Amino acid sequence: MTISISSRVAAIAESATLAVDARAKALQAAGEDIVVFGAGEPDFPTPDHIVEAAAKACADPRNHHYTPAGGLSELRAVIAEKTKRDSGYDVRPSQVLVTNGGKQAIFEAFAAILDPGDEVLLPAPYWTTYPEPIAYAGGRAVVVPTDAASGYKVTLEQLDAATTEATKGLVFVSPSNPTGAVYSPEQVEAVGRWAFERGLWVLTDEIYEHLTYDGREAPSMPVLVPELADRCVVVNGVAKTYAMTGWRVGWVVGPDAVVAAAARLQSQLTSNVANVSQRAALAALEGGLDDFVRMRETFDKRRRVLHAGLAGIPGVECPLPEGAFYAFPSFEDLLGRTIAGRPVTTTLELAAVLLEEARVAVVPGEAFGAPGRARLSFALADEALADGVTRLQRVLAPV
Ligand code: PMP
Repeated sequence: MTISISSRVAAIAESATLAVDARAKALQAAGEDIVVFGAGEPDFPTPDHIVEAAAKACADPRNHHYTPAGGLSELRAVIAEKTKRDSGYDVRPSQVLVTNGGKQAIFEAFAAILDPGDEVLLPAPYWTTYPEPIAYAGGRAVVVPTDAASGYKVTLEQLDAATTEATKGLVFVSPSNPTGAVYSPEQVEAVGRWAFERGLWVLTDEIYEHLTYDGREAPSMPVLVPELADRCVVVNGVAKTYAMTGWRVGWVVGPDAVVAAAARLQSQLTSNVANVSQRAALAALEGGLDDFVRMRETFDKRRRVLHAGLAGIPGVECPLPEGAFYAFPSFEDLLGRTIAGRPVTTTLELAAVLLEEARVAVVPGEAFGAPGRARLSFALADEALADGVTRLQRVLAPV
């Protein structure tokens, strides 16, 4: 019997980054020695004080029950305080919805804002998840390609050219997954002002807000353009800053009406985020950024090692990442050649050859709307990273 899947769900592509990660982990589980540059998650354990708070919460029967669907009131209050402290954005707890990771925040935000036919400008390279929740909400992602020459930062001219009568809003991610680009404060303000003047929504993803290098800052758009607040949704979470990807705590900050609508949706979809995870997030946000600053120093060292290793391979162009934990090199000059005895014409094929011949997992640029490139995470252990770079050099630049 053929089972037919609804067209809405059939249209959803599996997350390419999770797929690469799953394939690499399956090979590792089968005893293969694979260096995985795939995952977008810190390799560090969650800091002790957060785990201890969660363990204590686990033992307290008060936390064995539902919380309000939108999150513990004390967590919403602490997220509002944290938002003010870290980015200067003044919001009330009623403007905060606690979600199952940043992913659910994005999904619910689009569901609350978009009507069928609405277009959303999506600068590429984009994080692989973005097109899917836009489409699921009935919208249409309008991809706006950017190039390495601009540091993968979208210009107002590019946004203008992609805007139509149907444009409802735009996605803004800085620091960026997958490019590691960080917009300057002037650029953030210019994009925010551009959107405000056209009456557009902005979904600004600040999940890497603290992960910038060389003294760069990643200011929050509605702080630089306060008029935008009524049409701005901020997405954030504890995953990257506190090494808490597995705990699944993110949030939306937005206008009351959007947050209330998204909370209604969540009340039917998943109810609250796991109570103990919310307690862990509370401890994380109350605990400051000392552990994070140490992790960032380590990422910074790894960033330089990976960048130097990739930039040293003839035919590979690699901008120095400015933020997040991804390098996003171009392999365009290598395409059309024979690599490890196999003809390679796309980065999809290149990623397959690298997995089989170099035993290295990378995410092909096709997953981010940027063929010819690939994403390599440097959130992996120092030895693995150095080993991976050597393997890439051996296959891509054999002596
Ligand atoms: N936004 C961006 C840009 C991301 O890279 C990620 C994680 N890869 C998320 C949101 C969501 O993170 P999570 O769902 O783990 O909180």
